[in-house]
Amino acid sequence: MSARILDGAQVARQIRAEVAAEVKELQQRVGRPPGLTVILVGEDPASVVYIRNKARAAEKIGIRSSVIRLPETSTEAQILAAVQRLNQDAEIDGILVQLPLPRGMASDAILEAIDPDKDVDGFHPHNVGRLALGRSGFVPCTPAGIVELLRRNDIPLEGRHAVVLGRSNIVGKPMAQLLLAAHATVTVCHSRTRDLAAVARGADILVAAVGRKGMVTEEFVRPGAVVVDVGIHPVEGEDEARDLFGDSPRLEKFREKGTALVGDVHPRRVRDVAGWLSPVPGGVGPLTVALLLRNTLQAAQQRT
Ligand code: NDP
Repeated sequence: MSARILDGAQVARQIRAEVAAEVKELQQRVGRPPGLTVILVGEDPASVVYIRNKARAAEKIGIRSSVIRLPETSTEAQILAAVQRLNQDAEIDGILVQLPLPRGMASDAILEAIDPDKDVDGFHPHNVGRLALGRSGFVPCTPAGIVELLRRNDIPLEGRHAVVLGRSNIVGKPMAQLLLAAHATVTVCHSRTRDLAAVARGADILVAAVGRKGMVTEEFVRPGAVVVDVGIHPVEGEDEARDLFGDSPRLEKFREKGTALVGDVHPRRVRDVAGWLSPVPGGVGPLTVALLLRNTLQAAQQRT
């Protein structure tokens, strides 16, 4: 039997509707909408698409958004100056520096310059610390979205064994913290983990955030497990599409369009083993954007 789909697009719609209602209420109460500014350094094509999606989603629900585009040749001092200006701007509630920054740039110093009360990505050490301590603060959008996806599909976390593949500051580590806070028993894996597939097979809930296309195959998945796929990769060529999708409507679609996205999970090899599976696209991606909007609303509510 095929895995049930964890429909991230649908959960994201619900969250956006909830946020939109509160944005309206805030606008009436304080006379201005929440304000979000994204700083983009350079022209990374994926980043350009991501920030366009974020800006559109914000505008649609009444959050005022703007983008500051700085050239790739910008100095750290110039970026810090832009952050400082936004820190001072009373009408800006959320500041987001789009990652990755151009090679060689010290992202730590730049992320730490953001006012923690405007840090809607939740990457400032102040908010990272709050999450680790179980105190309220801004939680990184992707793992926060995954918790919503699980909760709103009535997937219990308490007492379950959750295995997180990946230990990045953006996904893996905060994911582990959130699962722990929800009383799961958590194992975090990374590139030095021995016998990764066997560890993963112990999971009731498996979160794949390794950044390796289709790496998670049936050997990684206990029958019936919940599998959340965080990765995003372009499919390259028909042979790869056939391997990943098998003879399915997705292969037909790839043939028509010539492009497709896939995650860290191998869809053809996992879909009949997992109990639940988040698709790519339409799984975690839309939730990341929805949670950014919710964090921006939270920032505005706290500041007004
Ligand atoms: P990073 O590259 O920062 O981290 C990857 C992690 O996976 C590292 O901890 C690394 O281990 C581990 N890893 C890499 N290869 C292996 C391996 N062969 N075996 C075991 N562990 C391995 O990636 P991110 O966390 O930023 O992102 C992960 C994926 O999620 C990417 O595909 C990214 O594009 C996607 N993403 C999607 C988002 C969305 O909205 N859907 C948002 C953010 C990311 P080590 O620490 O030892 O190097």
